[in-house]
Amino acid sequence: MKRVYASLSLPDVHHAKNLLASVGIRAMVKNEMLASAIGQLPFADCQPEVWVEDDADAERAARLLAEGPLRPADKGKAWQCGCGEIQEAQFTQCWRCGTDR
Ligand SMILES: [Zn+2]
Repeated sequence: MKRVYASLSLPDVHHAKNLLASVGIRAMVKNEMLASAIGQLPFADCQPEVWVEDDADAERAARLLAEGPLRPADKGKAWQCGCGEIQEAQFTQCWRCGTDR
């Protein structure tokens, strides 16, 4: 199991999972329930996350999500930080390690 995507937007997380499923990568959503606690928990601890079941799929999944049509074009594209985290387009800084885009 490896995490390949995290977002505060639950629809985005499900879209990411579906995108992976469409290319045959088995994935699951974690922290779905915790999302409702946002505001009471530290930001990064309660984001819904997408995990791939097979670690061997993780790199391909991360690349796909970074390059793929994850969001509508008017919202920009997700990007991947050097630490491996996938960031949504509106973020200019990695939420995990703080590196600028
Ligand atoms: Zn980072």
